[in-house]
Amino acid sequence: AAVKRGIVIKDGWPGYSLDLFTYPEHYHNDIENVYIPHGVIMNRVERLASHIMDDIEDAKLMVLCVLKGGYKFCSDLVEFIKTLGRSSNRYLETRVEFIRLKSYLNDQSTEDLHIVGSSDLSFLRGKSVLIVEAIVDTGKTMKALLKHVETFEPKMVKVAGLLVKRVSNTAESLTDYVGFEIPNLFVVGYALDYNEYFRDLNHICVISKTGKVKYKI
Ligand code: 5GP
Repeated sequence: AAVKRGIVIKDGWPGYSLDLFTYPEHYHNDIENVYIPHGVIMNRVERLASHIMDDIEDAKLMVLCVLKGGYKFCSDLVEFIKTLGRSSNRYLETRVEFIRLKSYLNDQSTEDLHIVGSSDLSFLRGKSVLIVEAIVDTGKTMKALLKHVETFEPKMVKVAGLLVKRVSNTAESLTDYVGFEIPNLFVVGYALDYNEYFRDLNHICVISKTGKVKYKI
């Protein structure tokens, strides 16, 4: 179960002081702390890649990257799968496809899920599929996406979530590979945004009050 939950970050974890790390100067007043440093994220992603290599029996894996928030996680994960393949001489062939979903306005989840871009996923038929998503919150998005993916009859579907919020059992039960389990707070960075800001921040951080107001739409 410990492996399944990933690294568990407890309620009240204050993160690291901003002074201890480098980060883009333009976000100086907009973030509270460094919640998960980039280096820690990278090591964890490498470990997830090794779990995935061990589990997938197929020689080929269809990676379905959930944009935009999942692009960093997906690209680093696929890189690690390739590197591990070279060093172990057991290659897992990967093909990456992208899907874009939108369900958030400011920091609030909205009911309606939109699939933007390719909604025809018929190339998944009979394949081993890995859905790669940066964060699973209530699990509503993932549930809807899984239902959609299943209609194309893949051989197998697994879900990798870099972050899973400790809010519902749904989120955890949906996610096969969890990077970090985090409390119920809004995080940005490593491609996760707040109204399109903060994607260019490498660490995962907690947004400050100033930041929330500054980038509100
Ligand atoms: P769910 O449907 O699981 O409630 O929400 C999942 C989606 O909400 C994610 O794909 C992500 O876009 C967005 N989301 C949820 N929590 C956060 C968060 O803490 N930070 C950011 N940037 N996006 C979040």
